[in-house]
Amino acid sequence: MSNLRFRVVEKAFNAEPLEVAAPAQRPDEYFAKYVFNREKMFKYLPSRVFEKLTNAMDNGAALDRDIADAVADGMRRWASELGATHYTHWFQPLTEGTAEKHDAFVEHDGKGGVIEEFSGKLLVQQEPDASSFPNGGIRNTFEARGYSAWDPSSPVFVVDDTLCIPTVFIAYTGESLDYKAPLLRALRAVDKAATAVCHYFDPDVRRVTAYLGWEQEYFLVDAGLYAARPDLLLTGRTLMGHEASKNQQLEDHYFGAIPTRVAAFMKDLEVQALELGIPVKTRHNEVAPNQFELAPIFEPCNLAVDHNMLLMSLMRKIARQHGFRVLLHEKPFKGVNGSGKHNNWSLGTDTGVLLMAPGRTQEENLRFITFIVNTLMAVYRHNGLLKASIMSATNAHRLGANEAPPAIISSFLGTQLSRVLDHMEESSTDDLIGLGGKHGLKLDIPQIPELLIDNTDRNRTSPFAFTGNRFEFRAVGSEANCASAMIALNTAMAEQLIQFKHDVDALIEQGEPKVNAIIQVVREYIRQSKPIRFDGNGYSDEWKAEAQRRGLDCETSCPVIFDQYLAPETVAMFESVGVMNRKELRARNEVKWETYTKKIQIEARVLGDLVMNHIVPVATKYQSKLIDNVYKMQSIFPAEEANRLSAQNLAIIREIAEHTSYIKEHVDNMVEARKVANRIADEREKAVAYHDNIAPMLEQIRYHIDKLELIVDDQMWTLPKYRELLFIR
Ligand code: ADP
Ligand code: MG
Repeated sequence: MSNLRFRVVEKAFNAEPLEVAAPAQRPDEYFAKYVFNREKMFKYLPSRVFEKLTNAMDNGAALDRDIADAVADGMRRWASELGATHYTHWFQPLTEGTAEKHDAFVEHDGKGGVIEEFSGKLLVQQEPDASSFPNGGIRNTFEARGYSAWDPSSPVFVVDDTLCIPTVFIAYTGESLDYKAPLLRALRAVDKAATAVCHYFDPDVRRVTAYLGWEQEYFLVDAGLYAARPDLLLTGRTLMGHEASKNQQLEDHYFGAIPTRVAAFMKDLEVQALELGIPVKTRHNEVAPNQFELAPIFEPCNLAVDHNMLLMSLMRKIARQHGFRVLLHEKPFKGVNGSGKHNNWSLGTDTGVLLMAPGRTQEENLRFITFIVNTLMAVYRHNGLLKASIMSATNAHRLGANEAPPAIISSFLGTQLSRVLDHMEESSTDDLIGLGGKHGLKLDIPQIPELLIDNTDRNRTSPFAFTGNRFEFRAVGSEANCASAMIALNTAMAEQLIQFKHDVDALIEQGEPKVNAIIQVVREYIRQSKPIRFDGNGYSDEWKAEAQRRGLDCETSCPVIFDQYLAPETVAMFESVGVMNRKELRARNEVKWETYTKKIQIEARVLGDLVMNHIVPVATKYQSKLIDNVYKMQSIFPAEEANRLSAQNLAIIREIAEHTSYIKEHVDNMVEARKVANRIADEREKAVAYHDNIAPMLEQIRYHIDKLELIVDDQMWTLPKYRELLFIR
């Protein structure tokens, strides 16, 4: 009895690792081979052009038309040598993933032939016919023009035969239709605000860069098994499947030996990532079986975001070549851990100072405390928005389950830093500042040991944890574009730092010495932001009650959480620092609600199909076999004995009937509930209906499918089981 399931399982278990020839060179020799970085700019551009371009990259200076032409020409010559024949504006619309439309370098030569050419005009701006990208109503199709514009701060690169140019994507009326445009605005805002605050400590600071180091978690599944699971194929997660008897309870996968097939994939991925200039560094097994993690060295936020998007598409491509599919969904399997994307975030100056790292002197530590406390204030004031920035239909499965950060944003600082803040809060300014002889004033802020940098007291349940020289935003989803979280966080920080400067300057104007003024404001902020600090167990029910008392956002419904984007304090924040206006926020929310609805809608349809095409037919067939057996028992045994001997089978027959009738009835109900929800015109209300009425049905139906999986003959079951999907040999 050979069904598809057995064939794919056999193939998966006998699959050999794909041998990939190791690169002949060392990583430093092939790193950024396919990136038009400064080294290549220098080589391929006239020196005048090189200088103008680097000035534009570093200082945002505008590029003249003739310079753009020269840059484009240099890029094309470099790309052609690598075999590129096409170019594309590579942008990040409000869907998941990236978008690209390829054009060849060819132009008419005016003599009936063609030449390879690439002009500055084409480099700088394009008009993709992008009317079918989600835009939340900003662009009605009749005015479908949006344009993509080159972002010189992220270098162009070559993938296969195409020169990829990172761009923003904007409507003709100026509103952003992507992630990159508001991200760049947020980064500029936080740069400006943080630089101004840095001037209290060092007038030479000219620029502050926000850094991002992401850690990408993912699952790998054998491609054959994946193809035999329509739910994985169409929704990215399993909508059914009973837990394997063994999964992660022995904790033997985490940091364990990497299976050879997976190791081959990882090596291949790393080489290709390095060639694209992504500084990948760390790889290991994660907690769940078949779950892994990859992390690069942190980079400036905009570049790190692009690199993460690029890495995710690279992973998808390379996984296929190795006979795998990569699952970036936050919760592909019930009962084992889901995947996140920790966003390690910090600010650093052009003078080489990491502002979230403790220093050696008292003054450095006052600066450190200043930035930590302002971060706490920003996160406190906008905790609801930060949650909204990482929320999605898929990440909702992970948040709030007892594995990932809870659906309440709080911040963990560790005992040492908490103690320092408590001390500052309790002491008076006079206690903190003494006259320190010829060095002028002396700050009595307790020494913050350097040791803090490798602080080991970690709290895995905290969604926003201080980890020595940075904050780690752990609630971000594995599939998400990091930009969403980074836009919210950097904008909140910018707004907060502007407020801080305002408050400190007000005291200075009243005659307070600068350090006194800073300490007074910091102390006030420590007091105000206290509710966001939480060092305990984020999974506990006590915390949920406590967080409610503290006034933190405890909403759990995904579509309702999105309301935060339109809260008055959010709109004021985004508008005051010039990142997004109300119209853009409104449009983006429309997209979020619509996407939420569609995701649940697709899951509901897929589950309905699975039920009618796989589950019920198989269960019924097995049931008939049992019924057949019961009849035959009647013919060979006396009635009473036959009844006794068939009792077990009769029980199973009844059980199958109960489950299948429940399933059928509820699939019908689900269809009806969808019809009702689909009639709702308002996108928010529709999403809420899908959340409240349809999403729970998926779980209820699944419960009965999973029960059937346990009792139906394994030989007849058509869909690969968890124990097969989750254990790569
Ligand atoms: P862990 O699993 O212990 O959190 P990893 O080494 O897996 O640590 O990942 C830590 C991530 O944080 C890496 O991407 C690293 O480059 C990044 N990182 C380290 N320091 C900073 C910093 N100051 N700012 C931003 N990211 C940082
Ligand atoms: Mg981490």
